[in-house]
Amino acid sequence: MAKRKALTKTKLRSIRQELEQERASLLEKVVDLDAEADVNNWREGGFDDDPADAGSASFERETAQSLSNHARRLLTEIDDALRRLDDGTYGVCERCGERIEFERLEAIAYARMCMDCKRRDETGR
Ligand SMILES: [Zn+2]
Repeated sequence: MAKRKALTKTKLRSIRQELEQERASLLEKVVDLDAEADVNNWREGGFDDDPADAGSASFERETAQSLSNHARRLLTEIDDALRRLDDGTYGVCERCGERIEFERLEAIAYARMCMDCKRRDETGR
């Protein structure tokens, strides 16, 4: 397979910027969502009288919790991508060592695997 072109310094800089921006907005989101998922916050709201309100409140709390978990996972991925940018391994597939497709990195800046390996990983082969 032909070697894919390395990312330019300019491109790497803009990727880092993008990741840092996403990281900052995710951090804000996690704080918001955690406040929303916090049981004590809901108790203060006083949904005790109406069971329907209480039900939808717990549904919203669960949603906030799972969104928060998702955001945290993304944060870990982004932190890891930033680390790879620092140590110069960014954009290299963890599985096969080939460069990750440029289009893939544009879509998912924190991608760890090239498209082929990702597909293989997902199908379990
Ligand atoms: Zn690969």
